[in-house]
Amino acid sequence: MIDDAIRVLAGDCTVIAEDTDRSEYRGRVTTIVKPDNTVLVHDIDGYQPVAWLTRAESVSSDRAGDFTLVAKKDTQTLRIAAHQQEGFAHYPASAAGTPVGTCPNCDGALVRSSGVHCVDCGERYGIPSDATIREERCDCGLPRMRVERGLAFDVCLDRGCESLDEAVREAFDREWNCPEPGCDGDLRILRRGGLIAGCEHYPDCDTGFALPAGIVDGDCGCGLPTFETGTGARCLDATCGRVGEYRVEAGVDD
Ligand SMILES: [Zn+2]
Ligand SMILES: [Zn+2]
Ligand SMILES: [Zn+2]
Ligand SMILES: [Zn+2]
Repeated sequence: MIDDAIRVLAGDCTVIAEDTDRSEYRGRVTTIVKPDNTVLVHDIDGYQPVAWLTRAESVSSDRAGDFTLVAKKDTQTLRIAAHQQEGFAHYPASAAGTPVGTCPNCDGALVRSSGVHCVDCGERYGIPSDATIREERCDCGLPRMRVERGLAFDVCLDRGCESLDEAVREAFDREWNCPEPGCDGDLRILRRGGLIAGCEHYPDCDTGFALPAGIVDGDCGCGLPTFETGTGARCLDATCGRVGEYRVEAGVDD
């Protein structure tokens, strides 16, 4: 379902922008009202609107009154009166994103913006921001995504179809010991917003670490695993300063 629409008004208009001062324009302009109530009035020149109001508190379109559109925000008002109207319409709108495949439900285009959604039917799939979309498809027809959480996991975009959490749990649940002195707990894989490795003795022990986006590639001096990430090596514990120790020791042995 596409609920959001962009409103477009085109024609010979008078545009009055009022704040502490007042500007008036007249011309054949096209006004765009976005779903967040941003109003942009474009004339023939350049890329910049001749007048605008970002995220207005209200935008009323009253065809009966003198003004076709009135947008208000704090002390600012933008009024647009159409003397001769070429068109005034609502068009369905979606976020635009990188094309990543075809929707198995409706054959529409799947695009990635914040998540992945279908431009036609509006079906949405929330995905981690660091996920990369694969060419390979799941049996359900959706593309798979690759997400690095200790290992590279290739799972369906639809959590209900193939669960990233389950795959990570299978690989790393109870794989690491709680580093808290005197605690004999294992780290369990849990979802607390993001995926974390948290001590099984919670709430007696509140040790827990967000799983970094990266691949486990060794052991830290503290005993926890190290991850190779896009920004270099780090310990599962982001605050740990002993990441280098393992490597230095390995180097000495050479
Ligand atoms: Zn679709
Ligand atoms: Zn699937
Ligand atoms: Zn613990
Ligand atoms: Zn460490």
